[in-house]
Amino acid sequence: MDPQQIAIDALKAAIAATPQNTELSVQLSELFSNLGREDEAEQTVRDALRSSPESADLQLQLATLFYRSGRGSHASAIVETLVGDPLIGARALVLQARLLLNNGDRTAAVEAYKNALTEDESLSDPSLESLLGWDSDDADEVLATPLTSDGESLDSDSFEFGPEADGDPKVEEGPSLERGLAEGFEAVGGMDGVKEQIRLKILYPLEHADMYAAYGKKIGGGILLYGPPGCGKTHLARATAGEVQAGFLSVGISDVLDMWMGNSEKNLHELFEKGRRHKPSVLFFDEVDALGASRSDMRRSAGRHLINQFLSELDGVDADNDGLLILAATNTPWHLDSAFRRPGRFDRVIFVPPPDATGRAAITKIQLKGKPSEEINFKKVAAATDGFSGADLQAMVDTCVEAKLSEAIQSGLPKPITTSDLVKAAKALRPTTKEWFNTAKNHALYANDGGLYDEVLDYLKVRR
Ligand code: ADP
Repeated sequence: MDPQQIAIDALKAAIAATPQNTELSVQLSELFSNLGREDEAEQTVRDALRSSPESADLQLQLATLFYRSGRGSHASAIVETLVGDPLIGARALVLQARLLLNNGDRTAAVEAYKNALTEDESLSDPSLESLLGWDSDDADEVLATPLTSDGESLDSDSFEFGPEADGDPKVEEGPSLERGLAEGFEAVGGMDGVKEQIRLKILYPLEHADMYAAYGKKIGGGILLYGPPGCGKTHLARATAGEVQAGFLSVGISDVLDMWMGNSEKNLHELFEKGRRHKPSVLFFDEVDALGASRSDMRRSAGRHLINQFLSELDGVDADNDGLLILAATNTPWHLDSAFRRPGRFDRVIFVPPPDATGRAAITKIQLKGKPSEEINFKKVAAATDGFSGADLQAMVDTCVEAKLSEAIQSGLPKPITTSDLVKAAKALRPTTKEWFNTAKNHALYANDGGLYDEVLDYLKVRR
């Protein structure tokens, strides 16, 4: 007998034995639907609904079948009753996004999809994303779910600064407080040394504040991460927030700079205040050199006032920075004003090099998680990716996934990713970190500011 018929018979027998197990009926219905036996798919759900009319799973399955057979309004009628359901609401939102898109309402569809992902990231659906014209910027916004200090979601509206009462130009709404990476440091491959420094410098003081006080050890100050692009600085900052379940506020230059005199300082102050209101939180300054460019390098500098404001916020002159974890990243540390490196400010400067072979193996493993793959020889992959950044490795995995997808669509047979697929994809890519080292080497050799860039020289095996 054919294996599908065996599965169908087995499910039918199981349903007959435990009719209250609605999950089995959903499975059988899906199986029929996948085989193109739509009538039986629908009949299975309807039969089950007769004995369990309240089952949200069955209702959602019926709506899905309606959607697939082009009965959009029937599907919408059911979905609308399900989107608020605490258990199934997120899945209902994904279906709602598809229905809205079919009705030509892309904006509402994107909104529904975003809400679904906010509730449950694992529902991400690449085929829907491509229909929505979804891009990585949208994806970033999904993560941008504001959290209260006790970790609950908050409506982003509550973060609006609102127009100025005195008729000043409106202060733009800043970036939202996001969630850190749920897996914490586990989402970060390699980087053990940097993780340890972050633990010592900012996580332990947060978790054991009393102990630090007892020994009279002063806490505070931030960490500046520097190194070639794509090597995990931002990723690690997000993971740091996840590690201690703190909110994450990522600040880019455009969140601060304002063409109106004085507004940039105000924006920066508001961002720090937002972090302080939602402690513990990680305040992450991406491309911090753009905000704090050396005062002698005024062409690039955002301005003396802004730098002074930044310094006094870091110092916590008028405010309490306890519970505020401050991280910053830059690809060009030599542009940052040296005043930022004084004690209590970014007094720990850490070089984030491209991952070594062990790191590359660990990162690839993380990036392949949840994707169909054979047993991979990660050592071999690591050997083929010398000089690759984390972002380069991601590009390698993405290339493989795309190739496998188009193969599967043509042959109808999904095949797992293999070691040689990865090695082949790696060979077609060039590591993007080399160029950075050309510039960094010059700074390290000729402007090594008290040995600041010794780690770069060590990495390059240049004798000092
Ligand atoms: P940077 O901030 O240093 O420019 P990112 O943190 O944005 O680099 O890294 C780019 C992407 O590469 C990340 O989104 C992540 O997917 C991947 N990545 C980089 N480093 C790691 C790592 N150590 N572990 C897991 N993924 C990583």
